[in-house]
Amino acid sequence: MAAARSVGMEAEVCRALHADLAKPYTESYIALVKSSCKFALKNLKKWMKPQKVTAPLMTFPSTARVAAEPLGVVLIISAWNYPFLLSIDPIIGAIAAGNAVVLKPSEVAPATSSLLAELLPRYVDGSCIKVVEGGVAETTTLLEQKWDKIFYTGNGKVGRIVMASAAKHLTPVVLELGGKCPVVVDSNVNLHVTAKRIAAGKWGCNNGQACISPDFIITTKSFAPKLLEALEKVLEKFYGRDPLRSSDLSRIVNSNHFNRLKNLMDDENVSNKIVFGGQRDEHQLKIAPTIFMDVPLDSEIMKEEIFGPLLPIITVDKIHESFALINSMTKPLAAYLFTKDSKLQEQYEVAISAGGMLVNDTAVHLTNQYLPFGGVGESGMGAYHGRFSFEAFSHKKAVLVRRFAGEAAARYPPYSPAKLKIL
Ligand code: NAD
Repeated sequence: MAAARSVGMEAEVCRALHADLAKPYTESYIALVKSSCKFALKNLKKWMKPQKVTAPLMTFPSTARVAAEPLGVVLIISAWNYPFLLSIDPIIGAIAAGNAVVLKPSEVAPATSSLLAELLPRYVDGSCIKVVEGGVAETTTLLEQKWDKIFYTGNGKVGRIVMASAAKHLTPVVLELGGKCPVVVDSNVNLHVTAKRIAAGKWGCNNGQACISPDFIITTKSFAPKLLEALEKVLEKFYGRDPLRSSDLSRIVNSNHFNRLKNLMDDENVSNKIVFGGQRDEHQLKIAPTIFMDVPLDSEIMKEEIFGPLLPIITVDKIHESFALINSMTKPLAAYLFTKDSKLQEQYEVAISAGGMLVNDTAVHLTNQYLPFGGVGESGMGAYHGRFSFEAFSHKKAVLVRRFAGEAAARYPPYSPAKLKIL
């Protein structure tokens, strides 16, 4: 079994992820959680250190600094697709910044949720970190309480519920949401590497059930057949001729999501546009990597976040037409571009607003602890990872310390034009 390669509690985590999603061991991302911990431990002293700032003449003599302080008690609500990573990673930032935490894992990944509820009290200070399991009713009750920050990962519809509840107590929020992540593929690329990296970010990330998975491709009409052929070759190499039997492909999380994806595939506007894949097994909740060519832009599959193994390719005459198409949609969590053309790279960076941007690869920007991870517009607000996690859970307090010298008479009444001149 996949988890056999890991040891101790790691094996337990892998087993739970496998029970929830048939997630392959390599996609458990335990190494990411570890590196996030190590990074915080290594840098915490530096992050905590108050930052000296300039003290202007107006307050002379004085010293000034920005001091980080904990917010208090924070609520972390996590999602089912990476139920371990998305629970522990925000906790690392929250406790590094000195907060107490209540974690509400996703009920949609029940094995991981109950494992977190069992393991965390065993290894961490229970007065500092608590786990509350449950679904909508329990989350609603949690949201009625007053928190010092709410960190929510999930879809935008619930994000709005979270924000409305937080507003009642003026509680700040971080919303880690999703969206349709575009991949623009120019013809000036290394085709084989491009196909592998798109496939790794799509099907190699929880079979497309990842917030930063490529949602659709835009390429030119003339290049699309070559790209499709390269993707087909790569997919056959990765998952064999019968991908439904591959243990390297996660399953769909539950029958609700399976049916949602099935409806997207069976939509009469797009079902005849399938050019690769299309196999599915309702019993095993498995759907094979499936590629569509030139679906109508007003079809459901192009309107909602796919969050699964379906990948439409949209073709345009000139690659620059992709900019207008992306900008006609809501701002994505990640925007990808494959090209060797540095001018096109620059233009893409300036023209496209997205939570994050990655050129010539997909998804791996998430692993860079020096980059903020978060959305913009409909894909969310706030960010975390590395120092940004510490900051997300800290208040930056302005501290100014004066001495008793340095009195300016003009500051005090009775005011007079003569005193004003001195100012
Ligand atoms: P989900 O169903 O696990 O829901 C997330 C959390 O919201 C759960 O803990 C759940 O209990 C709670 N919840 C659900 N309905 C609720 C309600 N009515 N009131 C209060 N709480 C409620 O996860 P999901 O929303 O299906 O997750 C998928 C979405 O999350 C996608 O849009 C994806 O892009 C996004 N996502 C974003 C990130 C990120 O880091 N930005 C990461 C993973 C997933």
